[in-house]
Amino acid sequence: MTKIPPEHPRVVSLRTREKLIEQYDKGVVAPAGLIAHGRGEAFDYLLGEKTTEPALRAMEAAVAALLTAEKPVISVNGNVAALAAEDIVELSQATCAKIEVNLFYRSLEREKAIRELLEKAGARAILGVGEDASARIPELGSERRRVDPHGILVADVILVPLEDGDRTEALVKMGKKVIAIDLNPLSRTAQKASITIVDNIVRAAPKLVEIAKELEEDGKKNCKKILANFDNKKNLSESIALINERLSNIAKERKHLTLRGGQLDL
Ligand code: ATP
Ligand code: MG
Repeated sequence: MTKIPPEHPRVVSLRTREKLIEQYDKGVVAPAGLIAHGRGEAFDYLLGEKTTEPALRAMEAAVAALLTAEKPVISVNGNVAALAAEDIVELSQATCAKIEVNLFYRSLEREKAIRELLEKAGARAILGVGEDASARIPELGSERRRVDPHGILVADVILVPLEDGDRTEALVKMGKKVIAIDLNPLSRTAQKASITIVDNIVRAAPKLVEIAKELEEDGKKNCKKILANFDNKKNLSESIALINERLSNIAKERKHLTLRGGQLDL
């Protein structure tokens, strides 16, 4: 792996890329997964590369939904396994959610490589690998339609980090509560999900574990209150407004500095 100097201003972003490349070499991440990450990074730049207030509130609602679900499932693809395997396993334990492998670019080798990575991170039972994904989601053309009859097919709440819009829509149509983690608040996934966390999975996954441990102690009554007070459309608008505000402020500063002949430090 390339040595990234710790003082580099983009050290977290560069290390994240290295992790994806390493897991690409091991067959966990698909080539298109590298490109999808780039789309995410662009939005992270616009968000200021930090977890926002609306994202935190969406995370609380997400954990509340998982904790009060009857059959919660966390759906994992190559990028999620590469970037957040340990946290996903911890979150599944804290919320009693099953873990299922679900891929757009499906191959038995990749499914097994992802399972291995999750098992190394402490997972015990991984659904959706090989013949286990014997059920089908109606309406979906992609390989994402293949699901485990003991997992996504019968789940009431599904966490789908870094998801494709088609499947989000199909799962919502099936009456399931879908939680997405997506840096792009404009994607179809973000727009169609029941709860959308507009944040980088690298930051969101450990935060979700932390919130799960806190909310578990508070009991289910508090979870129901959080869910009743959460409005996803409003929350998404707040994320979009934050990007807008940030860009306007930067544009204003730049204009001001240009007038003074100065430099803008982003
Ligand atoms: P959609 O299908 O929902 O309309 P899309 O086609 O634009 O979205 P996809 O390629 O299907 O995008 O999925 C990749 C999505 O994952 C992108 O929206 C991107 O913002 C998001 N993404 C990529 N990397 C991360 C990450 N590390 N954390 C959070 N989101 C990410
Ligand atoms: Mg897509």
